Amino acid sequence: MIPAKAAGTLAANRRTGSRAMPRIAIAMLSHEGNSFTPVATDLAAFRSATFAIGEAEARAAFQGSESEIGGALEFLAAHPGWRADFLRMAQAGPAGPVPRDSYEAIMGGILPALSATRYDAVYLALHGAMLIEDEPRGDLETLRRVRAAIGPEVMLGASFDLHGNMDPEIAALLDFAAGYKTHPHVDQRPTALRVLGVLARCVAEGLRPKGAIAPMGAILPSINMRTAEGPMAELEAFAAGLEAAEPDLLDASVFGGFTYGDTPSAGATAMVWHASDARRAQAMAAALAGQMRARRDRFFIHLPTPAEGIAQVLAAGRFPVAVTDPGDNAGSGGIGDTPGLLRALLDADVTVPTVFAYITDGGLVERARQVGIGGDMSGTLCGRLTDAYGPPIPFEGSVLALTDGKFRNTGPMMRGVESNFGPTALLSLAGTPGGANVRVIVTSHSRSPHDPGLLALHGIALDEVKLLCVKAKNHFRAAFAPLLADIVDVDAPGPAALDIAAFRFRHAPRHLYPLAE
Ligand SMILES: [Zn+2]
Repeated sequence: MIPAKAAGTLAANRRTGSRAMPRIAIAMLSHEGNSFTPVATDLAAFRSATFAIGEAEARAAFQGSESEIGGALEFLAAHPGWRADFLRMAQAGPAGPVPRDSYEAIMGGILPALSATRYDAVYLALHGAMLIEDEPRGDLETLRRVRAAIGPEVMLGASFDLHGNMDPEIAALLDFAAGYKTHPHVDQRPTALRVLGVLARCVAEGLRPKGAIAPMGAILPSINMRTAEGPMAELEAFAAGLEAAEPDLLDASVFGGFTYGDTPSAGATAMVWHASDARRAQAMAAALAGQMRARRDRFFIHLPTPAEGIAQVLAAGRFPVAVTDPGDNAGSGGIGDTPGLLRALLDADVTVPTVFAYITDGGLVERARQVGIGGDMSGTLCGRLTDAYGPPIPFEGSVLALTDGKFRNTGPMMRGVESNFGPTALLSLAGTPGGANVRVIVTSHSRSPHDPGLLALHGIALDEVKLLCVKAKNHFRAAFAPLLADIVDVDAPGPAALDIAAFRFRHAPRHLYPLAE
């Protein structure tokens, strides 16, 4: 005899088509595409960052980490009745569009399994600002193909970065989605748990959420988009208020958009999911987009030049302090190759111990390895990939340290996930004019230097450094703001420079502010 409660569950399962042991497919394809960098994001770029498949590799890379796949593993631990297949999990640092053949190679680890197996649910960790070389709405193509593979009945959920350039059609392809609520992004794991929790309700209870995405009509710079203060903090509070006031409102996400992704879906958007009411989701997304529009101009701020920023922190005399160069921030598609901040640093001839993190030049690292620790070397720094942002800088110095460039993040963002900068060298610029007190980290890959592990890897302790010059932006603050007296952003030429009007957009709608100005 079947107990009454179990009989009810069986009836519900028949109604929703779910089985006693629900089966879910989990995959990740996360890429933030910068249309203005000379560096493409090929398969090698994914392989050097994250390119895992299967549960064992998922656990090795993400178990217990502050990441979306870490969240998926946590969900499965809490739902022992669920069976999961980990398909391709690919993530690369932000850079140029993904070549078509690289994209197809990644999808080859996802689509065949989705077509061949009857899943109850599929969870995708996406970014929202992916560019494919011949398709600037990369995530839209991914979701169209995934939906075509699984059919209309299988529950499809996705999580997105706060900087996604969200096409409104995405909401129609999904059964539920959520974006990060923090910048720096310290809520990747809970965002995955939110999506998986709703997918579980879809499978078990027959929940059928309805979503809507409303554009706000502007491309925003992300420099003043932190969620700790300013307009984005107010918008996140407004979105949280919507959720709190209406239990059936399952998620309200604010997407600042990715400034340097030139796509028909460029620009900031609001996304809202309601448990059942499509009209309510649309109305709330429109209301949230209206709140974004009302704060638009506060996202556009002025920054000092590198020379002004360095002079400012030296005059203030509060150490340790950082000067950051968002225009070549790897987290925005930076290339670790623009000379603006290093030129200004050498011109300032600083008398305090200074570390410059970092320049990307695998050839220079290789030469440093041949020279060996303690050996002298000379050459040029920056301007290797292009002189569009300024000429290379001649240097004379010596090799202080060599590393394999790998460490597990210890800071609050993506804690526990491995960072791989490729082989690195720490150089002294003591023989270079203005470089007497300057050390430079040279890496083989351009990666976000948001974790203190990069300094520790090179034997650099913050208490012996007075000035840090970093190719970084907001994510750097998650770990470093509590450790530093101040962080000053400057604006130098680069593939992620502040002035949006200086970039030549071809795909973004011309009516978007500030392109229309
Ligand atoms: Zn982001």
